[in-house]
Amino acid sequence: MSFASLGLSAPLLKAVAEQGYDTPSPIQAKAIPAVLEGRDVMAAAQTGTGKTAGFTLPLLERLKEGQRARPRQVRALVLTPTRELAAQVGESVATYGKHLPLTSTVVFGGVKINPQIAALKRGVDVLVATPGRLLDLHGQQAVNFDALEVLILDEADRMLDMGFIHDIRRILKVLPARRQTLMFSATFSDEIRRLAKGLVDEPVEVDV
Ligand code: AMP
Repeated sequence: MSFASLGLSAPLLKAVAEQGYDTPSPIQAKAIPAVLEGRDVMAAAQTGTGKTAGFTLPLLERLKEGQRARPRQVRALVLTPTRELAAQVGESVATYGKHLPLTSTVVFGGVKINPQIAALKRGVDVLVATPGRLLDLHGQQAVNFDALEVLILDEADRMLDMGFIHDIRRILKVLPARRQTLMFSATFSDEIRRLAKGLVDEPVEVDV
């Protein structure tokens, strides 16, 4: 199996080849076609399985095809539990998207907010964020989600463990209901399934 056979186009295949990947990992083989079809996805995946490329590659493919809002508005939001993971996902978005005319930025707490406000003002297609700082930015009208097409929750179980459930619920209230949602979690606990209700719609379940 190849990345090309999964439906990714030249700019993404080039980035993948430059990373030295030749075969999709099992989670990539399952998640990429589902995301490209526009389906919601619930995936059980640990770190190290290639999950980041599993959602980033098809996400970028979809954004590439879609109509861009002018001025540039956030079209995809990735929520992560920690700043380390946010930074890592942000790097993956930049790496896999380097041959596409898409912009991205990463926002998290514990650092100055003004540079983040400035970055958002310049316009970003893909925003990677931790929940608390995202709510701060939204409260300051530094970001709006009118053009949001895709929401991704990465390490959803860790977000719940870290007590982000109320922040997540507050964020969900300000997102368009009509969107594609991808949820990644190491496990599907009862709590995760409760969160998934009303969040994902007839999801493709991926378990590797
Ligand atoms: P992740 O599970 O997303 O944290 O990725 C784990 C590591 O696997 C990262 O260092 C990726 O660069 C690498 N990786 C992701 N997909 C592939 C692939 N298809 N082939 C080889 N390495 C990969």
